[in-house]
Amino acid sequence: MECVFCRIVNGELPSDTLYQDDEVMAFRDINPLAPTHVLIIPRRHITSLADLAEKETSIIGRMAGVANKLARQEGVAEKGYRLVVSSGEEGGQVVPHLHMHLLGGRRLSDRLC
Ligand code: 5GP
Ligand code: ZN
Repeated sequence: MECVFCRIVNGELPSDTLYQDDEVMAFRDINPLAPTHVLIIPRRHITSLADLAEKETSIIGRMAGVANKLARQEGVAEKGYRLVVSSGEEGGQVVPHLHMHLLGGRRLSDRLC
């Protein structure tokens, strides 16, 4: 198996895991861009947002719910945070396993991109 996030899900690669349930897993980004930088992923391999079937879209709600819970746990919920999902090459997605970034703990740029 080559997908780095699938290898994390399977325990083949270590991660600083903050949350997991039957569908979702969350761990700290290896190269944090903010004091809080957490990745929230579906356990099941879905390549990108563009590959998400209509009947699977509820996974995004599950991931956002986990992100909100972790934002509170990390102490950034009150001051604010950002959730980012990049899809595909021009969207800036590097790891081809659907993921949501939770960024917080500092003033983020006013520019979206
Ligand atoms: P993307 O650019 O695809 O939206 O984000 C991929 C993110 O995954 C990057 O922020 C990168 O630092 C992170 N990342 C890549 N490989 C690993 C890894 O092996 N472990 C962890 N924890 N994060 C990783
Ligand atoms: Zn994968």
